This record gives sequence, structure tokens and C-alpha cells, in this order.
Amino acid sequence: MKRPAFFSIEEIPEGKTIHDINPAFAGVDNEFHIGEPSKACAGCRKPFGAIRKPRMEIRLFPPNLPIPVAWAYQLCRRCSRKYQHGRSERDAILAAIEAFHRGDEASQ
Ligand SMILES: [Zn+2]
Repeated sequence: MKRPAFFSIEEIPEGKTIHDINPAFAGVDNEFHIGEPSKACAGCRKPFGAIRKPRMEIRLFPPNLPIPVAWAYQLCRRCSRKYQHGRSERDAILAAIEAFHRGDEASQ
């Protein structure tokens, strides 16, 4: 089944790693974190706090960039459950993460 065309994030196929997709990641064993983690959920954009805590991290890897960089976005419990619930729920969360990544205004 064809995926909707409204976003361009693709998941790394099971059994593969980013090393198989972008050779720039070959041999990368260490990572450096730059900047602070987001203070809001990348799925629903609600702020994290004492009650809403980050529960899951989604990483975006550029497939063609010749340097190994990734963006890490955190999801709240509600969005992480949606992500794990099924294909259409997952696609909705991925679309929200992509909009968050691009800096688009929230659509909800
Ligand atoms: Zn959320």
C-alpha cells in the first residue's frame, strides 16, 4: 500500500540500520549532543513538565547527507502510544514530527 505523500519521513526497514542507508554513518560509534532537548512533545507540541514527561525518542537521519548527523525528538506518553498503535496513527505522529522538525506552525 502506498504511503500518503504529505510527509517524507521513512522508517528504517526492520533488520537494517542507518549504516545500511547512509554510508556516512559507517564506523560511527560515539555521539555528541548539541543543544538542549526540546521542551515540548514533537507530536502534540504540548510542553513537558512534572506530569507530561518525555517517553520516547524518535531520531531523524538524513539519508543522503555526507556527514553523520541526526535530530532527536521526544514524544509524550500519549503520542508514543499512538506511534506504537498502528500504521495510520504512526503516520499521523510522523507527519507531526516532520512539521515540528521543519518549524511549521502547529495545525491543531
Ligand atoms: Zn505528545
